[in-house]
Amino acid sequence: MNLVFLGPPGAGKGTQAETICKRFGLAHISTGDMLRKEMRDGTELGQKAKSVIEAGGLVSDDIIIGMVKNRLKQPDCTAGFLLDGFPRTIAQADALGGITTIDLAINIDVPEQVLVERISGRRMCTGCGAGFHVAMYDKSTCDKCGAALYIRDDDKPDTVSSRIQVYNEKTQPLIQYYEGKGLLRNVDGNRKPADVQAEIAALLEQLQ
Ligand code: ADP
Repeated sequence: MNLVFLGPPGAGKGTQAETICKRFGLAHISTGDMLRKEMRDGTELGQKAKSVIEAGGLVSDDIIIGMVKNRLKQPDCTAGFLLDGFPRTIAQADALGGITTIDLAINIDVPEQVLVERISGRRMCTGCGAGFHVAMYDKSTCDKCGAALYIRDDDKPDTVSSRIQVYNEKTQPLIQYYEGKGLLRNVDGNRKPADVQAEIAALLEQLQ
């Protein structure tokens, strides 16, 4: 089962991906998490990506496609994977189609005003990269590894509006792209995480 999660920043893709991947035994591939790890490790790629990410833009297609191509060669992907945050442009989706087959694209739909609220409460772990929301977890250290939590630079209000604009321009067209291939399923993401999860799980059970 090879899946793509679509949806704007703050839709809950990462939260849902974590539980769905555990339940269905899929590899979770988050390009945002991969890029943040490169930045934490101070690699050349991380240094290149940093200014673009902090300005709310998109990292170049070449860099991202290369990164995902390598990741998909890892043995944990043979049993199936879930792409979270990729593809984000038509060029990325076309490249993905040339590398592998996608069985389903799940679009997690959330109204724009809710996204801004959600992102403003988001906290990340400096150690393992786990994500939290103050409404559900209002502590300053990670419950998984104990490291300090921080607010992502690109989660600050000015950058969030640029990210939503970039999403509307570059990524939203992918909804039609996958709809045209008969692979799209829409899920209402403006509900409790457990309800969203139940609906996604039901869709995936039909696939198996
Ligand atoms: P969110 O889902 O909250 O928007 P992510 O963690 O997926 O955030 O991504 C954070 C940032 O990393 C993006 O705003 C973008 O700059 C960069 N990025 C992640 N995935 C891609 C991608 N597929 N193509 C280009 N840039 C990406």
